Amino acid sequence: MEYFEEFPILIIDDELHSETAEGRASREIVGELKKEDFTVIEALTARDGIHAFLSHPHVSCIIIDWDLTPEQGDGMLTAADVITLIRERNRKIPIFLYTERLAISAIPLEVISTIEGYIWKLEDTPDFIAGHIKRAARTYLSDVLPPFFKALVEYVDEYKYSWHTPGHMGGVAFLKTAAGRIFFNFFGENTLRADLSVSVAELGSIHEHTGVVGEAERRASDVFSSDRTYFVTNGTSGANKIVWLGTVTAGDIVLVDRNCHKSIMHAIIMTGAIPVYLIPSRNEYGIIGPIHESEFHLETIRKKIAACPLTGDPSKHAIRLAVITNSTYDGLCYNVETIHENLKDTVPFIHYDEAWFAYAKFHPLYAGRYGMHPVEEGGPTVFATQSTHKVLAAFSQGSMVHIRQGREPVDPGRFNEAFMMFTSTSPQYMIVASLDVATKMMAGHSGKFLIEEAIEEAIVFRKKMVTVGEEIAASRRPVERLWWFTVWQPDCIMDEEVTVPVAEAAETLLRNTGGCWTLRPGDEWHAFGGLEEDYIMLDPIKVTILTPGVRVGGGMEESGIPATIVTKYLRNHGIVVEKTGYYSFLVLFTLGITKGKSGSLLAELFRFKALYDDNHPLTEVFPDLVRDYPARYTEKGLRDLCQEMHEYLKAGEITGIVRKVYENLPQPEMTPAEAYRHLVRGRVTEVPVRCLAGKPVAMMVVPYPPGIPVIMPGERCSAETRAIVDYLAFCEDFDNRYPGFENEMHGIVVREEEGRRSYYVTCIDTDGGDR
Ligand SMILES: *Cc1c(COP(=O)(O)O)cnc(C)c1O
Repeated sequence: MEYFEEFPILIIDDELHSETAEGRASREIVGELKKEDFTVIEALTARDGIHAFLSHPHVSCIIIDWDLTPEQGDGMLTAADVITLIRERNRKIPIFLYTERLAISAIPLEVISTIEGYIWKLEDTPDFIAGHIKRAARTYLSDVLPPFFKALVEYVDEYKYSWHTPGHMGGVAFLKTAAGRIFFNFFGENTLRADLSVSVAELGSIHEHTGVVGEAERRASDVFSSDRTYFVTNGTSGANKIVWLGTVTAGDIVLVDRNCHKSIMHAIIMTGAIPVYLIPSRNEYGIIGPIHESEFHLETIRKKIAACPLTGDPSKHAIRLAVITNSTYDGLCYNVETIHENLKDTVPFIHYDEAWFAYAKFHPLYAGRYGMHPVEEGGPTVFATQSTHKVLAAFSQGSMVHIRQGREPVDPGRFNEAFMMFTSTSPQYMIVASLDVATKMMAGHSGKFLIEEAIEEAIVFRKKMVTVGEEIAASRRPVERLWWFTVWQPDCIMDEEVTVPVAEAAETLLRNTGGCWTLRPGDEWHAFGGLEEDYIMLDPIKVTILTPGVRVGGGMEESGIPATIVTKYLRNHGIVVEKTGYYSFLVLFTLGITKGKSGSLLAELFRFKALYDDNHPLTEVFPDLVRDYPARYTEKGLRDLCQEMHEYLKAGEITGIVRKVYENLPQPEMTPAEAYRHLVRGRVTEVPVRCLAGKPVAMMVVPYPPGIPVIMPGERCSAETRAIVDYLAFCEDFDNRYPGFENEMHGIVVREEEGRRSYYVTCIDTDGGDR
């Protein structure tokens, strides 16, 4: 297969370039390997060899000279050290040792047991040796491909002409027009040839979970530690609905994390369930915290159900399912054993929405914090839905449902009806292949190292931010220039009973010990009250950066820098952050991170600081903004803008309002499903946001920040929940005052009226008419 060309053979040999018999023999072997199109990477020292391996993890075979001379500058690394490092990351790649027959007795057993074989350079012919190496490389590569992807590659290779859908027939249809040709060239022939239909028997059936696709799902189930895994081709949006339609029916009571994704809302509508909400906490930075453990207590839940006007006859109060977002958008992950303990007798099904957390199983840092973590048997059946594409390597929409069976197990045949409800009869096989490959990438040890790189990079960045802050604080600048951004993280961690500042803590400790990142009750930095010991952990790869403006312990500072200005600046310089709050923003370190990527973020933050400190003119900092709104921004400097916006947010008591918004939930007047029926039938009116009180809304309204729905379909604001109306009105006013910094609002209709942006909410007509 031509795909093998790209897999080099790595030779680590310090004599490769020497005029010795061994050197000549090595060069002849390299020559033989190259004859057959294998590429060869040559490394002359142990360190160089390690670097070559780390930067070419796809090499197909490695040959190491056992007599590598340890070098001072290398830290005296030996061949055995190189082998150990490679084996930690890859158990299967063939490794050969160049050695002499007599030297073998000196090779320690732990090396002998991990290598493929020996090469006697001076005794066998180069041709024979190269043949041996190539055979091992090919065998290794043939085992590298996971089942579905392998079958897809083979099928595409073999069958050039298709007579089935899709109608473009391997891309041929595109060649008939210029636009189509450009499309074809852009995506490439393999992409189009691999776009096959379900009628290819060789690839099995995703609907019936048979053939290679079924095998791929079973492998994923092993790798992700589930009892059963389903590949989903329409995102976790689809995966969540599959879980719900497979378990929940109309009138069932469900416990719903109020910090849920909109696909959960859609599932509530589709099933006709009655939601009772679990309320997450918030802190004064506007960061959404965890659901407190007390929310899972049976008495708390009973009270909520009794208070909910939709739940009807109390004797029929069976709760069907609880859904929890894990980790939260801000990277807080739960101790699933605590949740299990609390909910085990309350619900038959627990659903963890782990859209951002598919990697958790693969690193010891997250032990006990993800849905598929084994807990005692006989408890609830657990679902975890994961957007493989968000945090592992897969095409967009690639997602998985994992199931761990409990006392009310899911029957695969019945559950499959829900699966098929959301699976196209023409699924995109490239998504399936990418899920198969993502699984393979995480299998064995490679998963841990892939995640570890992201964790490492995030920790380096976190520490660097702290030391930079310290250096600035210790520098001889005017006092108003001593500020720096703060990372939202513990100031200190415990290292063997000793408290050490994070910047000085050992990296291996920070990388491997979940305890370093748990939110300890009473610690000031996280600003969440009432936490339980070892309940919540901050995932270090999700880095929240705080901008100046909010006082530690509550209240606002005299001066401040709203985060939206910082992230707009970053965006203009090619850095797109994950999420922006009022005085915080989130950056994400994923598998795709490359070393040094965080360096450019640091550099831009520095530049922002310099521009701010000099009150640099906006005409230069934000030329686009000044061009679009000259009257508003021309005369100002960057610090002026920050200060003006800060004072506005401060006067509006924004952090206080945001907190109040979630303190009391609006009153449910009808189920989301019923609200949706009104919407479809058009029995709705758009109401100006200021007149919202008293009217049940037809759509969920989600302001970003903070990204939690403030009101759900069928709910209405009352006097106690006036804060919601105030908050939306505040956002509307903000948009008009700060054009170019408009809030992102979901579920709000924005109208331009006489040069003003006005917010409308779609509300249900409750006056008369048949329901
Ligand atoms: C993104 C997201 C989803 C939806 O996932 P897609 O793969 O984009 O469909 C569901 N839940 C949460 C918490 C998410 O963040």
